[in-house]
Amino acid sequence: MPQITTANHSTLCEEKTMSRYFRNFVAGSLALFSLGSQAQQNFDNVEIEVLPVRDGIYMLVGAGGNITVQTGVDGVLMIDTQYAELSEKIYSKIQELSPTPIRYIINTHSHPDHVGGNANLAPLGATITGGNVARLQEDAGDGATIVAFETVMNNMVDEKYPVESWPSETFFVERKDMYFNDEGIEILHQPNAHTDGDVIVWFRKTDVVVTGDVFTTTMYPFIDKAKGGSINGVIAALNTIVDITIPRAKQEGGTLVVPGHGRLADEADVVEYRDMVTIIRDRIKALRDSGMTLEQVKAAGPTQDYDSRYGSNEGFWTTDMFIEAVYDGVQG
Ligand SMILES: [Zn+2]
Repeated sequence: MPQITTANHSTLCEEKTMSRYFRNFVAGSLALFSLGSQAQQNFDNVEIEVLPVRDGIYMLVGAGGNITVQTGVDGVLMIDTQYAELSEKIYSKIQELSPTPIRYIINTHSHPDHVGGNANLAPLGATITGGNVARLQEDAGDGATIVAFETVMNNMVDEKYPVESWPSETFFVERKDMYFNDEGIEILHQPNAHTDGDVIVWFRKTDVVVTGDVFTTTMYPFIDKAKGGSINGVIAALNTIVDITIPRAKQEGGTLVVPGHGRLADEADVVEYRDMVTIIRDRIKALRDSGMTLEQVKAAGPTQDYDSRYGSNEGFWTTDMFIEAVYDGVQG
């Protein structure tokens, strides 16, 4: 496993320029931006840790979803932006990794712990194409291009995110491709999984897959039914990741997998997780098919052997809520 690095190459001059940016910009946008489900969370003590993944690709861990940064001759491409409150710390780390502009931000889905920093970070970048049609006219040509599946845009508009955070390039096909920093990148839509707008991002040359929240190493899959999530969509997405990834030897290493939350993983980790989710789905389906009510299914303990690893009795996604979402999803 690569080691965590906290190397600091940034000069005083860069820091000064950046804090001027942030004093003017973040202060204004934070006032507007109170959408985070953890708005009450104190971010002062959150450190952004940088984990080199492979060949210019890094995983940034702070609070909220993991960020992936790809660096190279064309500039910086980043996937997800965590919370708005962390943007200054995140931007500082990215500048240490590469002094080039952020050209693209790809959002894996619309949850605030993944898109919260869009409005702060996109304006600090510079689009490579000049096209920026979805934003206000005066912003055209400025800032990084924010790429996301169409329904991410719909959700962000519905939830009244600031205009600056909206995707500026949406798509509705199942597979969008890009070529950036000398490698092919595939953005693969995963229908009705964690939400209705999930994408997996696959760096084909460096062989790194970024999963968003269809895969985490920390919890049972969060199925956001209100946003179109479903258990069978999650399993389909996990199977897609298993299809793409290739182990190096003895089922270890090879393709590296950046999860939505948790530690850097490989195919074996995803297989293990996919099997767990599939087994629980099949158990709950069998119990439901035998005529059990939701309460009876819960009492039967269909997740019991996995609860010490993935379960939770508190927080926004409890084991009970997971069982309920699966019970709903295996109907008929
Ligand atoms: Zn999420």
